Amino acid sequence: MNHPKSAQSEFVKQTIREAGLRATPARIATLKLLQEATSPLSHAEVSDELEGMGVDKATVFRNLNDMASAGLLRKTELGDRVWRFELFTENEAHGSVHPHFVCVDCGSVSCMVEIKLTAGSMRLSQEFGEVTEILLRGQCNDCS
Ligand SMILES: [Zn+2]
Ligand SMILES: [Zn+2]
Repeated sequence: MNHPKSAQSEFVKQTIREAGLRATPARIATLKLLQEATSPLSHAEVSDELEGMGVDKATVFRNLNDMASAGLLRKTELGDRVWRFELFTENEAHGSVHPHFVCVDCGSVSCMVEIKLTAGSMRLSQEFGEVTEILLRGQCNDCS
């Protein structure tokens, strides 16, 4: 994605409006931040980034949850009781999920966007319930 900055802002604004929300500067900044991120971000991480803009933590929290409810963001919990937020990746139907890799040593989270359950695995997993998160744990390259 190599849009010029202004075009990208317009696109982000439009995306927020299409979800039925007001495109406030804080929401635009949040969405841009998550667009540039390579892994899901926690409320604290987004707050730290937007602090310089004068956005308070409560607003960040509300915006993240509003945008998740509106279907703009996916809210995910990876076994450490921290909610993280990320954009749905391109071509990802709202039901399907990409796996996440969590390092047991440093806690870093990576999106495994190229890795998917096969259609057959999806079908079989439905016998157990609806899959909402696929989690792989181990040591990341920096820690192993
Ligand atoms: Zn690690
Ligand atoms: Zn992810």
